[in-house]
Amino acid sequence: MTWEDLERAAQNCTRCALYETRTKLVFGVGVRDADVMFVGEGPGENEDLQGEPFVGRGGQLLDTMLTLIDLDRRRNVYIANIVKCRPPKNRDPLGTEQEACIGWLRAQMDLIKPKIVVCLGRIAATVLIKPDFKITREHGQFFDINGVQYMALYHPAALLRDPRKKPETFDDLKALQAKIRELCPGTYTR
Ligand code: SF4
Repeated sequence: MTWEDLERAAQNCTRCALYETRTKLVFGVGVRDADVMFVGEGPGENEDLQGEPFVGRGGQLLDTMLTLIDLDRRRNVYIANIVKCRPPKNRDPLGTEQEACIGWLRAQMDLIKPKIVVCLGRIAATVLIKPDFKITREHGQFFDINGVQYMALYHPAALLRDPRKKPETFDDLKALQAKIRELCPGTYTR
């Protein structure tokens, strides 16, 4: 399946009830052959209106975090979510919604073939790394899953709620930068 076929099919998705309340489906943003992929849990209000992930205050913080380690959503990474339609009132996506939607993300990953996947927040980490992932203890650690390096950062919204987590996240970003230099230095020459 080509990227265009995949996106067209996703845009018409009715696999779970979230299609009924979405304004825009949020497929993802970035370069389609990126070696580094970021995955959040789902769109919020601004994302639902604009059809792009991480565009509100949390998105601005994410962009700042990316800039700190010379990453940019338009240049050298791809950003998507576990679910592509906004859960009402920004609640966590239900397990059934995650299960219904994960196939789209897996198909994107099959096409992108990232070497490093960064989970943004606990929910993405429990889906992609392991069900009992503990974000407070295991953020910043790398997990090898079928030859792909996975790690998790605190979700930008959590950093906005509790800025005391920022120094730890800065250390995690530095570790991520070192891993990118080791495994996919081409990320920094785009
Ligand atoms: S959240 Fe995912 S599975 Fe549910 S309707 Fe949207 S694209 Fe389809």
